[in-house]
Amino acid sequence: MAFFIALLINSIINLQVINSFHANEKQVALTFDACETKTPSYFDKEVLEFVIREEIPVTIFLSGKFIERNTKDVKEVAKYEFIEIENHSYSHHDFTKLSDSDAKEDILKNERLIESVVGKKPVYFRFPYGYYNQTKLKILEDLGYKVVHWTFPSGDPDKTITKEMLIENTLRKVKPGSILIFHINGRGWKTKEALPEIVTKLREWGYSFVLLKEVIK
Ligand SMILES: [Zn+2]
Repeated sequence: MAFFIALLINSIINLQVINSFHANEKQVALTFDACETKTPSYFDKEVLEFVIREEIPVTIFLSGKFIERNTKDVKEVAKYEFIEIENHSYSHHDFTKLSDSDAKEDILKNERLIESVVGKKPVYFRFPYGYYNQTKLKILEDLGYKVVHWTFPSGDPDKTITKEMLIENTLRKVKPGSILIFHINGRGWKTKEALPEIVTKLREWGYSFVLLKEVIK
């Protein structure tokens, strides 16, 4: 009987990824992906230096291969208390194509890697490419993760996007509680040019930047 009840509950529960947060004031979460796919990836130094210089609270989702290639830099970055380091899987595979056991092992492998490099266990997860399904969401829930995606894509991996388009797209769509996503691994072609203007404008409009741990418990 208990088994069938569990089955029934499982079929009713529709687990969701988090795309925004409840904001009482003008707050946004600025998040980045730092992953490696086919070619070696490194931090976009200009974006990183801007964030550090301006002390902007940001969350960076890192994949395992990126961490292994940039271990020293990740260690440095993690020293800033306004920067959160979170889990973006070890392999950066499409999780809908992984078996449940492989998916779980992949998540935990990157969790252990982050713990060993950063000294802190990640609590937020972002799926590679944003691909997921209910079983994979359940695995993450069971492991104690909150899955955080984005409110709208910035479009920064698009090679044809201009700095102006990136700024316009973000400023037109942003609202309190938005989770912004950009790339800090060199895949955001115009990010370093657009981000300073986006941040300046948002501050002018009265927005502040928050870490996920402040708004997603
Ligand atoms: Zn990624």
